Amino acid sequence: MKVGVVPGSFDPVTLGHLDIIERGSKLVEKLVVGVLSNSAKGPMFSVAQRVELLEKATSHLDNVVVIPFEGLLVDFLKEQQAQAVIRGLRAVTDFEYELQLAQANRSLYPDMETVFLTTNVQYSYISSTIVKDVLKYGGDISHFVPAAVIDMIYHFRR
Ligand code: ADP
Repeated sequence: MKVGVVPGSFDPVTLGHLDIIERGSKLVEKLVVGVLSNSAKGPMFSVAQRVELLEKATSHLDNVVVIPFEGLLVDFLKEQQAQAVIRGLRAVTDFEYELQLAQANRSLYPDMETVFLTTNVQYSYISSTIVKDVLKYGGDISHFVPAAVIDMIYHFRR
């Protein structure tokens, strides 16, 4: 079975993430959304909250599961018996880091591939950081996050 992993912090999930997950889910039989529980980044939402948001946002996708992980991505891939990592590319600024990551991962685990999906232009400016900034100052996040999770995000922030 072809299994793919979309790894990330998803703090919180955005329309850009959901677009990559939806498109990625058509390329594999099973898609695992791997939620980094690494707290070094000082996330706004706990890993349990980020998982819950992603589960709600992806509930219409039959072959998608959401699983938290920590440690090396290649170890998580092996654990999930996944052959490919699927990542979104927003702009050239993403490219250098993503290239390094893909090459480092392949040297750790030569049997894996990284697949890049280019962002849909209408989402290219959206990031979790922007959502968090808008939230901090009480702005409207409805243009940035999936409709199904807007209320849950406001609830978690209370
Ligand atoms: P990380 O902490 O690994 O950068 P993120 O949660 O920010 O994790 O992103 C997870 C994945 O989603 C990455 O591949 C990232 O490039 C991609 N991504 C984030 N925002 C967008 C967007 N607006 N359009 C397309 N891909 C995106």
